Amino acid sequence: MGGSLAGLLAAHVLAGYADRVTVVERDRFPDGTAPRPGVPQGRHPHVLLQGGQTALESLLPGFLAELRAAGAPRVGMPADMVLWQDGRWLRRVPSTTHFYTGSRAQLEELVRRRVLANPVVGVAEGAEAVGLLGDASRVRGVLLRDRSGDAGAEPRPLEADLVVDATGAGTKAPQWLAAIGAETPREETIDTGLAYASRVYRGRKGVLDGETLGYYVYPCPDQVHGGGALPLEDGTHLVIVSGLRGDEPPTDDDAFVTYAKRLPHPLLHRWLDEAEPLSPAFGYRRTANVRRRYDLPGRSPAGFLATGDALCTFNPIYGQGMAVAAMSAVALRDALADPRRTPTTRRVQRALLAASRQAWDISAGADRKMPGAVGTALTGGPADRVAGWYLRRVQERSPGDPVVGRAFRAVLTLSAPDTALFAPPVVRAVLFRPPAPTPTEPPAAPEGPGTPEEPGA
Ligand SMILES: Cc1cc2nc3c(=O)[nH]c(=O)nc-3n(C[C@H](O)[C@H](O)[C@H](O)COP(=O)(O)OP(=O)(O)OC[C@H]3O[C@@H](n4cnc5c(N)ncnc54)[C@H](O)[C@@H]3O)c2cc1C
Repeated sequence: MGGSLAGLLAAHVLAGYADRVTVVERDRFPDGTAPRPGVPQGRHPHVLLQGGQTALESLLPGFLAELRAAGAPRVGMPADMVLWQDGRWLRRVPSTTHFYTGSRAQLEELVRRRVLANPVVGVAEGAEAVGLLGDASRVRGVLLRDRSGDAGAEPRPLEADLVVDATGAGTKAPQWLAAIGAETPREETIDTGLAYASRVYRGRKGVLDGETLGYYVYPCPDQVHGGGALPLEDGTHLVIVSGLRGDEPPTDDDAFVTYAKRLPHPLLHRWLDEAEPLSPAFGYRRTANVRRRYDLPGRSPAGFLATGDALCTFNPIYGQGMAVAAMSAVALRDALADPRRTPTTRRVQRALLAASRQAWDISAGADRKMPGAVGTALTGGPADRVAGWYLRRVQERSPGDPVVGRAFRAVLTLSAPDTALFAPPVVRAVLFRPPAPTPTEPPAAPEGPGTPEEPGA
């Protein structure tokens, strides 16, 4: 259920095990890369972190070359960007990681083309899942309503040995499970009330040209406004401003530009003043972290799995959801292929949750500290409190210290496990070196050579 990134990639993996996989999608897929109604977040900036790149390449070999050929900008971190993080400007030392910043719609279209080329994978477009078939012990299929048909018509059943919920953050699967008598997942939530507004611009001139591909201010507890400009495949920039509950960014023309004055530096506001808007501004407000604990005992009937945002939704400001969708598909593949264990529903569901654990710790850990955060998971465990002291020292040092910065970026981009922060050179720097000075103004140029090419690029 759900033909976006998580659903398509799960279908790709399951095609290795099934006679037939049907992707049920309530939208009709567009020709090309137009945004579609079922993915309203597609109008907002989407970065593909390095952990997600590795996962996608492993699922669909050659994918990154296709993404580059389609023009998706590859942005080195931190050399190619002007970045404000944890209240400081980052030094633009040589890049140790990179992400892609092309449009969400283009990335999904490339994945869709690859996955649907497999004859085992079929698609039911314009078909909305409205319920589940089965009982408390086993899910046996899905109830579908044809969106172009008679609204009053009875839903039709689609029987299946396995149903995967990939309907995204707005999933109704917990209600559908309750309706067939199955246990519902416990929900963990942390909501900062963060709201986005995004708009496409063509920049005429200014600091975002030449060697500076993008600009980004991450909100933090002392400075809750965020914003930035990230390059798209057609040479334009997608500009975002963000604020918290009660001070949401506006979507009307002048107010959008004026809102950028709330950022800690006038750089973005000046750039916007000189740039040409190419689209209206679109708002987005549903940004809570939500984790559905289908993995707990008794919660998951056989024949049902949840993945992607339907399992674990993150505050999008950390740019993790697509990467986790891909990493979850890798976890699904590995759990099914594990010769040592029978892949029971619960075991596979646990593997899917584990694939999102680090991303959850990052976004939940940061959001718990934001003023006004509400939810059911506002206090971390004892380990979180001990780690908090160390992590604060990491954050103070990463903007100016290349060793700590490299490890921190690798963890934040999901390309290294969080234990990388405890490698001996990092521990030495974190415990014994004072924070290195950071620039007082946005650094205009990289300090060394630019981002190295990827092997095979
Ligand atoms: C504002 C914003 C910015 C983001 N920025 C980033 C970023 O920078 N980097 C990043 O990695 N991630 C980002 N994300 C997260 C990312 O968009 C998602 O994690 C990613 O799209 C994977 O989601 P998914 O496939 O699980 O769900 P979605 O992409 O939400 O797709 C759900 C699909 O299910 C379909 N559907 C829903 N209900 C039904 C139904 N009943 N029957 C049939 N079909 C149904 C929908 O039409 C849709 O196609 C952002 C999210 C938001 C909200």
